[in-house]
Amino acid sequence: MGLSSHRKTVLVAGAAGFLGSHLVDRLLKEGFEVVGLDNLMTGDLTNLEGAMRNPHFHFQTGDVREPVNVYAELIFNMACPASPVHYQSDPYATWSTSVLGALRLTEMARGRGCTLIHSSTSEVYGDPTVHPQREDYWGNVNPVGERSCYDEGKRAAETLLHDAKRCWGVDTRIVRIFNTYGPRMAFNDGRVVSNFIVKGLRREPLSIYGEGKQSRSFCYVDDLVEGFMGVARLDKLEGPMNLGNPKEFTIAELAKLVQELTNSPGEYEYHPMPADDPKQRRPDISRARELLGFEPKVELREGLTRTIADFRRRLE
Ligand code: UDP
Repeated sequence: MGLSSHRKTVLVAGAAGFLGSHLVDRLLKEGFEVVGLDNLMTGDLTNLEGAMRNPHFHFQTGDVREPVNVYAELIFNMACPASPVHYQSDPYATWSTSVLGALRLTEMARGRGCTLIHSSTSEVYGDPTVHPQREDYWGNVNPVGERSCYDEGKRAAETLLHDAKRCWGVDTRIVRIFNTYGPRMAFNDGRVVSNFIVKGLRREPLSIYGEGKQSRSFCYVDDLVEGFMGVARLDKLEGPMNLGNPKEFTIAELAKLVQELTNSPGEYEYHPMPADDPKQRRPDISRARELLGFEPKVELREGLTRTIADFRRRLE
């Protein structure tokens, strides 16, 4: 389904979350009628303050694990706790939201004959033994660890979406999101970017897990949303697609940059490495480049500067 022509109605499940709310804003800006659904487990309605003032936005409190009955011609599934602290705090809710949410939205897409764009994750690669990660890498995932509720939940959802396409011809599209950051991240979601910024602005030592040698690749939220819009514009998408920024940084490098940009004293506090924490992560985005012309534009320094300004404003 393309994104042009008449004012289409789009459902965003997980609309009040960090990514969901940015996607809602972008869809409204492009002239869509947007229905937002969220159970507010980790989402926050303040993320939708701007959207709520738009007559083309319609919010419903609801749980994606229940049958969803709203009119939509295109569905984005952004509904699932996604930070390790949040998704590990209620593993049952995480796994069931991922799997049952995918099931309900797939049923809806099948019934309505519409496209379902689903947020999967780089966590499907687990602690990868192949670097950078291409979509054809099957991953290295512990099925019974602390991260499994999320990793295996997302893997099961991918299986379901893929089978729905293969067996019933439902237009399901899987996007594997790599670490994304930006304004509106929750202060308390425990992610490295939000933790470092909050601590830096409070002039507290930055919390480094392990020695900070593990790496991640950080994508600014606007770049990621651009990728999602590109996926929606395609006539079809076969197989999963990575979206993220391919520039890789160690956690120690990130700490140094946040410390510089927040003018914090530059003290670090070392904590044990969490269980099953991936040592290295970087997306191979060749597919997204080829099919969407996707290219992240916002450098880490610039993205962090914008994010820090938003955190400073909200903390005040
Ligand atoms: N991390 C850290 N300090 C923090 C939070 C996280 O050193 O205060 C590390 C964490 O161990 C991981 C990386 O930063 O190696 C990214 O963690 P995050 O929770 O942001 O996301 P993940 O990529 O692990 O899902």
